[in-house]
Amino acid sequence: MRTIDSLGDLSGKTVLVRSDFNVPLKDGVITDDGRIRAALPTIKRLLDAGAAVIVAAHLGRPGGKVNPDYSLAPVATRLSELLDQPVILAEDVTGDSAKAVAAALEPGQVALLENVRFDARETSKVDAERQELAAEYAALADAFVSDGFGVVHRKQASVYDIAELLPSAAGELVFKEIDSLSKATDNPARPYVVILGGSKVSDKLGVIANLLTKADALLIGGGMAFTFLKAEGYEVGKSLLEADQIDTVKGYLATAKENGVDIVLPVDVVVAPEFAADAPATVVPVSAIPADQMGLDIGPESAALFADHILKAKTVAWNGPMGVFEFEAFAGGTKGVAGALEETDAFTVVGGGDSAAAVRILGFDENKFSHISTGGGASLELLEGKTLPGIAVLED
Ligand code: ADP
Ligand code: MG
Repeated sequence: MRTIDSLGDLSGKTVLVRSDFNVPLKDGVITDDGRIRAALPTIKRLLDAGAAVIVAAHLGRPGGKVNPDYSLAPVATRLSELLDQPVILAEDVTGDSAKAVAAALEPGQVALLENVRFDARETSKVDAERQELAAEYAALADAFVSDGFGVVHRKQASVYDIAELLPSAAGELVFKEIDSLSKATDNPARPYVVILGGSKVSDKLGVIANLLTKADALLIGGGMAFTFLKAEGYEVGKSLLEADQIDTVKGYLATAKENGVDIVLPVDVVVAPEFAADAPATVVPVSAIPADQMGLDIGPESAALFADHILKAKTVAWNGPMGVFEFEAFAGGTKGVAGALEETDAFTVVGGGDSAAAVRILGFDENKFSHISTGGGASLELLEGKTLPGIAVLED
């Protein structure tokens, strides 16, 4: 993967950077600026090198149309505060305003294009449409730096096509993400233990299939555990169940056995009569889930069992909360797993938006994890063993 060094002397050059500024907003206020902070090292490095920097990014899903609700204006303001210098926001993506801003931009200055998803060509499935927009981006700058890790699994104009038109390289964030995640996905130090959770099995089928040939143990918690438990013959009451995946899961259990991969399921669960923060919680063994209750977390014995596996591993990857951690009564399993990851000296990576949020919300020390990914979909696709288009295009 080409790095910023490969771009040579950038002094006096204009560099277009693709960042991931898809931050959560509530009533026009950014509630978590983590993604903007994660983009700073690359932008600062380019400014220090004497470049003028134009950032391209998307926010939400405006559906290829201009929609002021999805303007990057709040991001421009926050970026300006964090950089402690003005950030000029263009009024369009590649139109007259963007061209004028780019033409007037001096070394050391920063501009931001409007939401790239205001232009339907950005995410078009038609190559020629994306390439046309990419050529318009390319006309604004001398070089391209890909730093939006959250979008590198997308074949989009500002991620993929532009990299074919300008001298291009991976930014600091993308480099760090790939470097860290590949330690878990290529030749991991063993034992290699993967913990999967979250709400749906079907979201993570590809990952499970790939790990059946790679991991030493697969610990399954969260809502997806109930489809596995059902496949093993347990009754799961009102718990999340994907009945149409039971046969696939049975196949996975068989393959795991053949390959000597240990699939570890919960032995107890925390159940409640309904999905609510104040629902009365009871711990039951998986063999005694009441028909009128739902499992909302793995139980304490399961959390201890999972922690045991984690503490024996040399590489641990975690994706997906063990329970409905948003409700205090059902956060125990996720805390147990996060605590073991915090404690171990193994190489630990966390992927998945909700898992990363859980680490922060539940008060764990992010510095005690080897790597917490900023990209949910992209990190999952790496765990799946897929080639990401936005990365492949930066390889020599
Ligand atoms: P990530 O973003 O880390 O990949 P997911 O999006 O797959 O994770 O899943 C996160 C969601 O799964 C959380 O909002 C959590 O409340 C939910 N969840 C976890 N366990 C259960 C469960 N037993 N029943 C219902 N929802 C669950
Ligand atoms: Mg999620």
